[in-house]
Amino acid sequence: MLNVSSKTSRVYNFSPGPAMLPTEVLEQMQAELLDWQGTNSSVMELSHRGKYFPKVMHESEADLRELLNIPDNYHVLFLHGGGRLQFAMVPMNFVANDQVPDYVTTGLWSKLALKEASNICMVNQIVNTEDSGYTLIPNLSDWPLNPEAPYVHFVDNETVDGVEFATTPEVGKVPLISDMSSNILSRPIDIEKYGMIYACAQKNAGVAGITIVIIRDDMLTDQKKGMPGMLCYKNHAKEHSYFNTPPTLAWYVTGLVLKWLKHQGGVKKIAEINQRKAKKLYDFIDSSDLFYNQVHKPDRSRMNVVFNIRDESKTERFLIESEKRGLTNLKGHHLKGGFRASIYNAMPEEGVDALIDFMREFK
Ligand code: PMP
Repeated sequence: MLNVSSKTSRVYNFSPGPAMLPTEVLEQMQAELLDWQGTNSSVMELSHRGKYFPKVMHESEADLRELLNIPDNYHVLFLHGGGRLQFAMVPMNFVANDQVPDYVTTGLWSKLALKEASNICMVNQIVNTEDSGYTLIPNLSDWPLNPEAPYVHFVDNETVDGVEFATTPEVGKVPLISDMSSNILSRPIDIEKYGMIYACAQKNAGVAGITIVIIRDDMLTDQKKGMPGMLCYKNHAKEHSYFNTPPTLAWYVTGLVLKWLKHQGGVKKIAEINQRKAKKLYDFIDSSDLFYNQVHKPDRSRMNVVFNIRDESKTERFLIESEKRGLTNLKGHHLKGGFRASIYNAMPEEGVDALIDFMREFK
């Protein structure tokens, strides 16, 4: 029997990103494709500076501010370039002269962020858990922080390795910068603890092509000589993300996802659901003699559940059978092997139940 959402014939898509979108969002896009809000035009055919599109810009910013309780001294930007461009923009904007930022490496994405930054400036890797196979987050009190660093960078949720910070690291006065690409909007965050947060949209906040940046006023610096204007946060902040033509279609989708999330009861409510979904799946894996997860329990991701099968010769069979059941994209990252179930906000609880049923039956 094919496992599909009860309301539609859609599969349960466990892809790490681009990931499943809420069905209601897709239905709304379909309904207003030819006539967006009485304009007799699709949203992607409208000028961003015209009479209509700014509504998307204003409402999405207001909704994001409301959902994450973003204080007024923070800018909200919607940029191009994905998470990876942020890996370069962060050091380009925040490192002056011979300053050396601190980097925390707890998985593949933080390793790549460090690599990109080290192409731009000197970097100090204060934590590296590669030897553990990226299965834990070391005790925060042991971090050798440099009080003179221009910032500390970390990745809140490691999409490939399934490791997530349970709490915000306390780093004193040094600005804390976090890549929240794969867990933004999945739980409340205390924005004031951060100098900057960024997240590509294609997991929890829309489709590929747009990146959310939340940045404190005093972090903004002038464009440096030789720096392309597009890579300067201050330019984008001054122009309300209209420094050039923004990715209007992706922005519109993010706007719909934010409205959907408000309708679900907001971030606090979705966090409870996310917690329940992840707990069910980990509890099942831990109780199974066929599957296992190696991540230190308090550091397990609520968004990307990585797991392996004891009899590795059954890996292919598991993937083939799960696809046949409408449980798609469970293959782990190619560097990691095994399986990964990405269970972002839009994955219904029934999808997780269906996966557990299948895993039980597979045994
Ligand atoms: N950071 C994290 C945590 C990610 O998961 C990803 C994408 N999987 C990226 C950065 C890179 O994002 P993008 O592909 O949009 O550049």
